[in-house]
Parts: sequence; structure tokens; C-alpha cells
Amino acid sequence: MADAGSSAKRAKLAVDERDEVATVDVIARVKSGANISGLDAYRALYDSSLKDSDEFWREHATRFVSWARTFDEVCGGTFADGDVRWFAGGKLNVCYNCVDRHIPTKGDEVAIVHEGDEVGSVTTYTYKDVQREVSRIANVLKSFGVRKGDNVAVYMPMMAELAFVMLACARIGAVHSVVFAGFSSESLRDRINDARCKVVVTADEGRRGGRTIPLKHTVDMAVAMCPTVEAVLVYERTHADIKYSSKDHKLTPLLEAARPFCPCEEMDAEDPLFLLYTSGSTGKPKGLLHTTGGYLVYAAITHYFTFDYRPGDVYACVADCGWITGHSYIVYGPLCNGATTLMFESTPLYPDHTRYWDLIQRHRITQFYTAPTAIRSLMRFSNDAMAKFDLTSLRVLGTVGEPINPEAWRWYYDFVGKRSCSIVDTYWQTETGGHVVSPLPGCTPLKPGSATLPFFGVETALMDGDGAEITGNSVSGVLCIKRPWPGMARTINGDHARFMVTYFGAYPGYYFTGDGAFRDKDGYIWITGRVDDVLNVSGHRLGSAEIESALIEHEFVAESAVIGCPHDTKGQGICCYVVLTADAVESSDLLAELRLQVRTTIGPFATPDYIIATPGLPKTRSGKIMRRVLRKIIAQETDSLGDVSTLADPSVVDILIEKANEAI
Ligand code: ATP
Ligand code: MG
Repeated sequence: MADAGSSAKRAKLAVDERDEVATVDVIARVKSGANISGLDAYRALYDSSLKDSDEFWREHATRFVSWARTFDEVCGGTFADGDVRWFAGGKLNVCYNCVDRHIPTKGDEVAIVHEGDEVGSVTTYTYKDVQREVSRIANVLKSFGVRKGDNVAVYMPMMAELAFVMLACARIGAVHSVVFAGFSSESLRDRINDARCKVVVTADEGRRGGRTIPLKHTVDMAVAMCPTVEAVLVYERTHADIKYSSKDHKLTPLLEAARPFCPCEEMDAEDPLFLLYTSGSTGKPKGLLHTTGGYLVYAAITHYFTFDYRPGDVYACVADCGWITGHSYIVYGPLCNGATTLMFESTPLYPDHTRYWDLIQRHRITQFYTAPTAIRSLMRFSNDAMAKFDLTSLRVLGTVGEPINPEAWRWYYDFVGKRSCSIVDTYWQTETGGHVVSPLPGCTPLKPGSATLPFFGVETALMDGDGAEITGNSVSGVLCIKRPWPGMARTINGDHARFMVTYFGAYPGYYFTGDGAFRDKDGYIWITGRVDDVLNVSGHRLGSAEIESALIEHEFVAESAVIGCPHDTKGQGICCYVVLTADAVESSDLLAELRLQVRTTIGPFATPDYIIATPGLPKTRSGKIMRRVLRKIIAQETDSLGDVSTLADPSVVDILIEKANEAI
């Protein structure tokens, strides 16, 4: 490994164009009364969060969370030993913190506003209502033998009941594993089996964008191959006439009969809270485990500062609870802070492209949190329709999931926020539990396209190709984090060795994010993209390996390589290169069949944009596919293929170019 000084020099870029971007500092609606105000205040608190880390986290853990027993230690363990722990000795219950403790002061205030698929189909739940509904489902789960430490799979549409189930698990100490309801039965099956779930909670059908989603049917196909599942509990979302077998139980009568109070189980700070599977860029999906105390503190403190949450706000994150964003910023963070949180069942384009604006106007939303892909799909429409809506309640606009291109940022800032709202481009991951790099409204001067500065307690580092840290500014490298933070995942379910290799193997002593970044002259962080092989299609994460294995299952596919390709609205599209078996005959029917195979194996959101049959793939002599070459070819950047001399058979490149040109 080279010493830091010399590698820093090598890695130093000529001044990146991002260094030229000016800051934007008009955040009028945020300025008065913000939770923290001014860059100096941020810097002072940030410095103290690193310098007196224990003190900082002790103070904030007690401020944001109620403990049944206070902790003995703030942080223990190390990255190297893989035994990081926070608030050891502390006892608490997450559901108590998100619901019960608010009841004396705000029992009749709205905790959850649910907006259904149809415009204006609104249901509100006060904190008292939530306590009652959560208790009922908690008691039902208990009646099916679910106990502290048991894993429960949740495959539900964005009904308010999805949040109730998550909170009910937390209440009784069970571990939920929410699987996004767009996943296929095979993906669901693998996740249920990996976590050895005992109970699955689902709904008869879902409704989204005017369409019906046959959830129970998908669960039936999955559960047929899940030996650990003892019961399937079914909410009636549409009351469709579906098949119920002996393992299946309608929840309506059970909930009616259930007691409306269930006590909260006292949990250790490091007891598991939930499992959440990421898309799994390297094959088998990873079931990341988050624990109780650190996760809750981190979700609450980040929600409070990043969104400048204030009492009286109507906070809306329009993500799905199937992703980490829904866990931390629809359910746990906002409810721990006693907020009113909105759950949205529909899509930005249903019934038309003004749905978000109507939603903001009707609910007087103060913070609105969505993904760049949604913003890009809306900016295609004329702004005239949007101008008819009153969006003046907004104070903070958030984005998450992928880098936001400056054009989309500008549109969000100018037209949605009317140049009066702070944009928070929040960078984080399933593994980080909460935001790790993000502007704070009222504090951080903004730069379109930059996630700006690290959150309190998060010490970022950029690493070079030799594994050394790059110092100074105006530099690019791989983004790592240098010390534990409370919200970090603790392991991968059933595979701690994989956890260690994936996150702590590349740069010993550092947490490896898998993303590249540029640190500009002001120390601002710009995420430049993944250094691994994951696709981001309309905000959905897909591991290339997952799609490749779906293709390989087809009898006429010998080999495949899947890469992302530029796509105007989806962010990334899916391009699949396949090598057919010798006895296969290439035809449009066969390619259509392969496309369908991916769609049914993984889910409609994974439908490939291109399937290109080729006699071979560009491989190095050691057998590794050169994905960079495949990416350049489909992006039609063939004049910058780079060095292909290490390819075992460079002639394959010309064939690939020809094939790709035919396909585009
Ligand atoms: P897997 O870990 O299986 O590959 P995934 O990384 O797609 O799945 P998530 O944890 O949902 O799953 O996504 C985190 C990733 O999303 C980050 O590592 C980063 O690449 C991207 N990302 C999230 N927010 C931002 C942002 N504000 N700016 C740039 N990239 C972002
Ligand atoms: Mg990831």
C-alpha cells in the first residue's frame, strides 16, 4: 500500500468542473426558526460530534429517545472486529418511543395521514388510534406464536396497516422483514427462506396507479416453497374473492376480536429490530440487520435535522415502506419525533401528473421527500398545470436514491420550491440506516447536484486505488466512513463473514460504501456513482447478478452479462447481453421470451430495455467480464472504450458494436 502523501498526489484531479458550481443560499422559508441555523453552527456541532463523540451521542440519545434503562456505554467494538455496538446496557422499546410516549401530550393529534390510490381517499390516525391498531395486530401475531426474536415477513401494499405491522413487530420484539410488494414470488420466496420466517403478513390485493396487484396470489406461489412458514395473515384491501387455504387467515375477524392493548416488550439496545434485503449486486440478496437503540436514535436525529422538523408540520415521504427510506423516514424517524407522517399509496402520474401538487396543496405538506426519477418524470410536463396549485406550505424538499442531476435539481428548486425551499439531497444506504451526507435546511448553502456535507458523527474519507486515504480538497476517490455511527447495520442475516468482506474488506479500518465521490474545493461531497455492479432503474435497485441468473435459467442461454444503460426517465435502463446455447436459433420470439423470463422471475420493474444476443462476451484473460466495455457500447461511446488489450479475444468488440447498433 502506498503512503497517503504520494497517493494523494497521484489521485488529485485537475480542478473538477464541479469546483466551479456556485452555492445557492436563498432558503427564505427555512431561515426563521430553523432547528439549527447557519453554516457556522453546523460546523461547530459537527466538530464536537467527532471530538467529543461519546458526549454528543449520549446527549442526543437521551434527547431523542426514552430509555427504560439508561445505557452503560455509548459506543463499543470496532469495524475490524465486526462487533460495533451502541448504547450497550440500555433498554427500550421502539414502538413505545414511536407511539405510547406521545399519548399523554398528543394522543389526539394525527400520527399518520394515509392517502390511498384514488385521489382524496384519505384516512387519518391519531396517536391513540395507532396505539390501538398496532396493539390489535401485535396480539394477533402473538396468538400465532410469534415471540421476541422471531422473523416475520411482510409483503404488503402501502396501506396504513403496513406501518402498524412494522410497529407491532417492534412492540413484541419480533423482527420484521418487509419485502417490497413489486418483487416476484421467487424473490419473495428467497427472502422468506433466508430469514426462516414463521409468519407472512400480506393483503388480498394491492391497488397502485389504478391497477390491481395480486399480492396474495404471489405469496401463495412463494410460500409453497417456504417450509418455515406456519401462517399467512391476510388484510382485506380490496375484498377480492381469492383462495384461502388452511395456512391462510383473514385478519378482519381476528383484529375485531383482538384486545386493543398489548404491552411493549423491553428490548436490549442491540436486540434486532428488522431485516431488510438490498438488491444484492453480488448475487444472493443481503439481509441487512438493524438493531434497536442505535437505529432509532439515528433515524430520529436525522429526521429532525435534515428535514428541519418542527411541531405542527405535515411531513410527507412518498417512498414505499418496502425500502429503507420508508422504514427510517415514513415510520420510525417521524413517529419517534411525534410528527404527522403521510403515507402515499399511489404514483406521481396517477390519475395524472399533477398528483403530487394536489397532494401537497390538500394536506398543506411542509416537507416533501421523493426520488430523482420521479422528479425527472414530472419535469417532462409543462409547468402550467403545476402553477394552479398552492405549494406555499412547503419548506423543505428532499431527494434520495441516486445522484440528482443539476437540471432536475434546478427544476425542483425553481418550480416546486419557488426558490424559497431548501433542497436536501440526502445520500445514504440501507446499510447506513439514515442519512450520512446531506445538507441541513437553514445551515448549508446548496449546490445543485451535491449531497454537500456529512451528518453529525459521520466521518467521511475518500480512498484511492491503493487503499490509502486521499487528503485535501478537489479530489476524487471511493467514499468510505472512518468510524462507527449509531444507525449502521450490524450484520448480514446468517452471514457475518460476508458482512465483513463486503463492507470492511476493501479498506481495513473503514466502512466501504461502494460509491465513488468527488470532494470539491469547499469540502462538499458529490456522489459520482457506484463502483460496483448495481443498476438503479426508476429508483429500484437491481443487482446485475440477479438479472443474469434469471436469464441463465432459460434453457437456451449459455451466458449473460447485464449492465445499466442511460435512460431519459428511468435514470438507468437494463441492457442484457446473452450468449445463446449452440442449439438455439436467435429469433425475436426467443428474445421476447427472455425478456418475459426476467419480468416474471424478478418483477415488472426489472423488464429489460435491450436484450442483445452475441456470440461472446468481452472477457479478460482471467475470465472477468469487462463491463465497462459493455456499458460504453450500449451508451454508443465506442470511441472511448479504453484499453481492450487485456481482452482474451478483442475481436468480439466489433461484433458487439454491430449487434448493439441493430438493437438500439
Ligand atoms: P445493493 O447494496 O444490494 O447493491 P442498493 O445499494 O441499490 O443495493 P440502497 O441501500 O437502497 O440499495 O441504495 C443505496 C445507494 O443508492 C447508495 O449506495 C448510492 O449508490 C445511491 N444513493 C442513495 N442516495 C443517493 C444520493 N442522494 N446521491 C447519490 N446516490 C445516492
Ligand atoms: Mg448498496
